[in-house]
Amino acid sequence: MMCSDDYAVFLPSGSQQDHPIGITGFHRFHLGGTTITALCDGYFALSVHEVLRDGETPMQPLLERACLGEVVSSHVNAFLIENRTHRVLVDAGAGDLQDATLGDMSAQLAAAGLRPEQIDTVLVTHLHPDHIGGLTRNGVAVFPRAVIHVPREEDAFWLGAGDPAAVDASVRATFEHARQILAPYQAEGRYRLFDPGASWGDCLTAEPLAGHTGGHTGYRLRTDEGDVVFCGDLFHVASVQLADPDVTVCYDSEPAQARMTRATFLAEACHRGDIVAAAHAPFPGLGRIDAGDNGYAWYPVA
Ligand SMILES: [Zn+2]
Repeated sequence: MMCSDDYAVFLPSGSQQDHPIGITGFHRFHLGGTTITALCDGYFALSVHEVLRDGETPMQPLLERACLGEVVSSHVNAFLIENRTHRVLVDAGAGDLQDATLGDMSAQLAAAGLRPEQIDTVLVTHLHPDHIGGLTRNGVAVFPRAVIHVPREEDAFWLGAGDPAAVDASVRATFEHARQILAPYQAEGRYRLFDPGASWGDCLTAEPLAGHTGGHTGYRLRTDEGDVVFCGDLFHVASVQLADPDVTVCYDSEPAQARMTRATFLAEACHRGDIVAAAHAPFPGLGRIDAGDNGYAWYPVA
């Protein structure tokens, strides 16, 4: 049985009414001998008309059905996986790179009773700033012992031959940010690249989820009580992109591939009954996918 044993939340400045999903904190639960802690890095304002892109059918009816206004508060979640021998962080939040409403991951880790030196492994889903910014502060590695594992294709694009003109202006700073953030780990020999299908121990495997970025990668954790899939930025606005997986976001490097990847992932997660850990689902970002009246729907697990 999955059971929650620790849950702390607080509201950022302003009332909950001001920020309808502005609850943050950490949330810890156990599944099949593994402890997973969702760490809320904060939230950012997402303008639906600027960020979301129509699929085959116009999305306006989806927005109305979900009662979404022009601006949605989108959480940024990182996740810690702990067993008897390892503490693995999946993504690291935005650190100082983005809005002042982000960058809380380290504070939530401390609130959950963990020190940075206790983290031995960091797996990143992709190199956008809201997923790696928390790795480095003022040019110094936040995690003094951890080895950072990056999908090889992400490294090749953002730190290699990627063309800035090929991505949306909203994510173009990723080229510079990725270099700054990863440099301390590279200098200390704590930077590793991996290929699709790589695994860590016998229960954690990388699964390519290309489209949002070329090397965008999910991680499947297998336990005796079911799987948890850390899916990164497979979706940003669940009520729209699960109902119509064809809706993309301006941040997507390869929108057509992102559509196909999302459709395949949702069908499989729904069929298998996986717990899905999503970077931009409302905190704690844990849920199951089920077929709804219109496409798929997100059912939070807490
Ligand atoms: Zn993101």
